[in-house]
Formats: sequence, structure tokens, C-alpha cells
Amino acid sequence: MAVTVLIPTPLRAFAGGREAIELEATSVGDLLERLTSEHAALRRHLFADDGRLRSFVNVYVNDRDIRQLRQHQTPVGPGDTVSIIPSIAGGTAVADALPTLSHEEILRYSRHLILPDVGVAGQRKLKSARVLLVGAGGLGSPAALYLAAAGVGTIGIVDFDVVDQTNLQRQILHGTSQVGVPKLQSAEARLRDINPNVRVETFETRLTSGNALDIIRDFDIVADGTDNFPTRYLVNDACVLLGKPNVYGSIFRFEGQASVFYAKEGPCYRCLYAEPPPPGLVPSCAEGGVLGVLPGIIGSIQALETIKLILGAGDSLIGRLLLFDALKLSFRELKLEKDPDCPVCGPRPTVTALVDYEAFCGVGAEPSYDGLEVTAAELAAEWKRNPDLLVLDVREPHEHEIARIEGAKLIPLSQLPDRLGDLDGHQEIVTHCHHGARSLKALEILKAAGFSKVRSLRGGIDAWSVNVDRGVPRY
Ligand SMILES: [Zn+2]
Repeated sequence: MAVTVLIPTPLRAFAGGREAIELEATSVGDLLERLTSEHAALRRHLFADDGRLRSFVNVYVNDRDIRQLRQHQTPVGPGDTVSIIPSIAGGTAVADALPTLSHEEILRYSRHLILPDVGVAGQRKLKSARVLLVGAGGLGSPAALYLAAAGVGTIGIVDFDVVDQTNLQRQILHGTSQVGVPKLQSAEARLRDINPNVRVETFETRLTSGNALDIIRDFDIVADGTDNFPTRYLVNDACVLLGKPNVYGSIFRFEGQASVFYAKEGPCYRCLYAEPPPPGLVPSCAEGGVLGVLPGIIGSIQALETIKLILGAGDSLIGRLLLFDALKLSFRELKLEKDPDCPVCGPRPTVTALVDYEAFCGVGAEPSYDGLEVTAAELAAEWKRNPDLLVLDVREPHEHEIARIEGAKLIPLSQLPDRLGDLDGHQEIVTHCHHGARSLKALEILKAAGFSKVRSLRGGIDAWSVNVDRGVPRY
């Protein structure tokens, strides 16, 4: 780790346009010598003809003026931040462009301020930082809570959902009193309570190819907490196109992944997975379940990586994929390489603008099931008239233990192709699952096997519970 030199805006033109430059040095004099030999044009702005630092240029090591230290002999080492602060007529000097801390903030962040890698300079960076969270769900919850508590100045959140009872098992940003309330409203109230100094910017919309660049452009870092492939590829591509780091997390059942995709310094998500899996191959958390504490761990890692990027501290997960197994309690790490043929971040990109991600992930055109679905109320009436009708439950046995429709026959979807012999081809069959997606797959299997009188229960057992039999628990 080297010394970071922060270049003020007016001098960036003489330093290759860069905001910060990392250099190895042992003293301030040594550091400025290396800086001006790498960027010769800076020399006349920093030094007078006699080689002395110009009087209208101040140099700070972390938050201290070198004039109060040992001038050019002031030692510097790995992790130090050196700021060059010229006085600017009529303007604001750049370190002053970083917001200062109020007495309340100094007290609030005291455990950060006494950390050598954060300090006052780091806390001011956190205060000036703008982080966008895509999703205020399982991953976004802990990420938002810790980023707000840490004093990240502006937190943007994109979400369009309403808090649902089934969210509360893991989405700790929201409480029981907020069920039915938009997640953004719930999140904003909670974050304000944690830290009123934080600005919360809300975007009550689905992130799309049409709005992603406009929303993401104004933020420094994006933390992706989405749970679907189209949005994941959209966030990746938008971040690559805009040159922003994308702090990635994903979870399923008992396993999680995290990384930082930052195409300027390492691979992007498409370098890892050039194409999404076909729809239906990877079940969603709603279908497959997720242990509640798991997004707490992965979302916290996303918050941590975000804060490290802002501070420029430590080694980030750029170029590394972290795999977490909650049951084994093991972390593994894989090295990620940049794909030279990556369609978005490679040297010859074929994706140079946002595309239709629904189509890319094959989830756009849903086949039509007109006339092949029945509502819960229709099924109840029809079943009364025709008791021979077979209601076929294609869920897993552990779901059957939670709730069942009395009189239905259980054959899990995974066993259905091998158990067609258990069914009568002449019988009216209505398939059902939890929410009505797997029962359509079962319908297709049965149709393909020659069953002609098959339909599917729209909305699954959940709709049955809401509209027909409240004695069946919802889950
Ligand atoms: Zn890539």
C-alpha cells in the first residue's frame, strides 16, 4: 500500500486528470519530488523558482498541515493521505470541498475518528460519498443500515416494492409496523432515525435500460442487492459504461457470493458469467428459500467493501469472488480474471449501450396460458360439482407439511416425469404449487405426455388460502 496524494481540481489538468495518485515515499519532500517527476507540469504550480513550496500551496498529511509537523521532512507511510491545498481566489480550496464535521458528527463517529485508516480525513470522505443501493430487500437492508450508521453522506435507494410479512424474516430495515408500506418510505424513516445527517434519495421505480444510466450517473459506487438476472446484468453493464464500481452480493438458501466488479481495475460480472442461466434453472429465493441471517452476512460484506472503496483502505474484493457456505461456516475465495473477450468491458466490446435485459435473460416473452389456468374460486366451485376432479400438488414434501389443500394428491414436480403412471389420462386435472409458476411447468410436462384435460391453479395455494379457505396458512 502506498501513500495517496489527493490532487485538487485546479491542478488535475497537470496530473493527467487524476483525482488521486498512489506513490511510494518516506517523507513529504520525497513524495513531492516523485509526484513532480511523474507529472512535470505540476512542478511550476507547486514550487517557486528557488525550489521552495509556493506560499499559496499548503500540504496536509492526513488532516495535519506539514508546517505544524516537520515540513518536508514529515514522514509518510503506507495508508497516509497527502492533500495538496492551493488557495484559490474566489473559490473553495479542495480539501475544503470535502464537507467538514460538526461537533455532533465528531462525537457520533468518534470510534472511526480514532482509527488510523479512517480518521477525520476518511470520515469527511464518507460524508461526501454518494452510494446507490439497488434494492431495499435482504441484501440492501444490512448494507443501508451500516452505510447510514457509518456516515455515508448520501444513500440512494432504488425499489418499488411494498413491505410484505414474508420479508420480515430477513429484511431487517423494515419492521412489523411497516407491512403494507412502500419499502422506500420504511427505509427512509429507519435510516433517518439511525443517522439524521444522512441524505436519503429515493427512486420508486424498477431499474430499467431507460433510466439506469441517469440514476447511476450521479453516484460514486453502486451496491447491487437485486434478486433477478435481468437487473443484475443491467446494473453491471451500466456500471461498466459509466466507470463505476459495482459491489456485488447474491444469496441462495445457505450460500452467498460477494465481489467488487470494477472494470477499470478488474473484471466485471459478465467476465464471470457471460450469459445468464436459462429461465427456471435457478430457483428464486421465493421458490428455493433463504436462511434469514445469510443476507445479513453478505449485505454487511457489501457495506464493508463500499466503505473500503470510499476510504481507499485495505484490499478490496476486486478480482476475487468470495463464496460463503453458512452450513459449513466456510469462506472460500476464487481469483477472477478479466475476460479479454468480455462483450462489455473487453477491448472490443459488442455491448456499448444498455440492451433489453428481459429478452437477454429469456424472461421477456412468457408463453400464453390462456384458458389453461383457473382461479381459486373457479376451482372450488368446479370441484364441488365434479368430485372426481384431481387436484395435483406439485410442491415439495416440506412445503406440503406447512400447508395443504385437503384432498389434493402430492407428486413433487421433480418426480412428475417418472410418476405419470400414477395418474389417469382421462381425468380432469388441476395442478397447483405455491404461487402458480411450478404448476405451469407441471402442466407442460403433462400436456407433452398426452394428458389433455389439464389446467393450473393461478396464484397457487396462496390464492386458495386468500380466496377460498382461510384455514390454510399462507407462507
Ligand atoms: Zn467484463
